Amino acid sequence: MTQDAIRISGLRKTYQGGKEALKGVDLAIPAGSIFGLLGPNGAGKSTLINILAGLVTKSAGKVEIWGWDQDRNPRQSRASIGVMPQELNLDPFFTPRGALEVQAGLYGVPKAQRRSDEILAMVGLTDKATAYARTLSGGMRRRLLLGKALVHHPRVLVLDEPTAGVDIELRQMLWDNVRKLNRDRGMTIILTTHYLEEAEEMCDEIAIINHGSLVTQDSTTNLLGQLDAKCMVIHPETPPDTLPDAPGLSIDRREDGTLTVNYRTSQTSAEQVLEAIRAAGIRIRDVRTEQADLEEVFLSLTSRAT
Ligand code: ADP
Ligand code: MG
Repeated sequence: MTQDAIRISGLRKTYQGGKEALKGVDLAIPAGSIFGLLGPNGAGKSTLINILAGLVTKSAGKVEIWGWDQDRNPRQSRASIGVMPQELNLDPFFTPRGALEVQAGLYGVPKAQRRSDEILAMVGLTDKATAYARTLSGGMRRRLLLGKALVHHPRVLVLDEPTAGVDIELRQMLWDNVRKLNRDRGMTIILTTHYLEEAEEMCDEIAIINHGSLVTQDSTTNLLGQLDAKCMVIHPETPPDTLPDAPGLSIDRREDGTLTVNYRTSQTSAEQVLEAIRAAGIRIRDVRTEQADLEEVFLSLTSRAT
């Protein structure tokens, strides 16, 4: 049976004060997938996720979680989803084990079905089980938030920017856990990130939102084929007075004096980029390329016309 874990139609959110964070989003997320919701800062990712989590009320539209309509079956839809929020909001007076027990209680998980110790082991907090949350490091708090999202055995796990500002070790632990939950329990995983490489590595399917609207949704393979943006970083011998203007290239200056050239590999070759730079009289001391992150992809795709 193929099924959608999440079905969203016509989703709108206007915050008090008039900010339109979501402008009518339609989205279906296949059950069993690892799904990436991508977009630059302010795109509306957290708003969408917080609506799924029941933390933000939508202004209009329909949300179904595991087939349950959020408005008509609020209890079942809430029970189907676990959310690890972007903010580290933990009660400082709880211990990790206490926090998991309270969370399980909130979701009505009977004592016999609670797996607090198993969850603590999974997120690597066994030896911190009885420490107060306020004594935990940022990384430990994040792991505890992941544990909290899992207490009620949700079908769908949502992670909002789980690796923003996180060290490599914790990142690895998070991804190992996520892969395992997906593979062993068939849990549908939805994550937001603005690191393209991370999405490339983790996600089967990706949706991109920008300014509150869905830009595209496709398999990761298809999408990365389209997102052929590259960034060349050029260290000039002497800083140029004006930046060259060449078709298909978006050229900027960084604070360290280097020039960045964003281009599409399908339209421009590296050789052509170098030629354009030299033709502008700039002598190149050093050059390297970076994989453009999504922020730069958006900049190069949306703000080039200015
Ligand atoms: P993202 O997670 O993609 O960075 P958000 O969903 O957090 O984006 O924010 C989308 C837009 O809505 C932004 O312009 C943000 O400033 C605005 N916004 C988010 N939360 C609130 C709020 N509680 N009140 C008013 N505006 C908000
Ligand atoms: Mg966010």
